[in-house]
Amino acid sequence: MFTNKSDRQYPLYLGILHSSKQLKWLDPYTYQLTLNEPKQAINILIDRQKKSTKQTHKYLTTKRCRWNFLLSSFGFSTRSNFSCGKCDNCFQK
Ligand SMILES: [Zn+2]
Repeated sequence: MFTNKSDRQYPLYLGILHSSKQLKWLDPYTYQLTLNEPKQAINILIDRQKKSTKQTHKYLTTKRCRWNFLLSSFGFSTRSNFSCGKCDNCFQK
């Protein structure tokens, strides 16, 4: 078991750990992790967040149909030239 004062650098990760029942808040400033390898778990969460940030950046900067982008991001197969005709990128074409 690992106890530490709240680290303000990781509020999102702490929230994820809490929601997955791997972290217990003792008071608003102190938490207790119940993981065997808490630092490894936090590094995994940080990597996930970095990937999510990259994907969000790609979505924001894509020139292709945003609906097409979202569908393919969530694993739905679409024609590569599929255009919804309603998003800002399709509307500009
Ligand atoms: Zn579109």
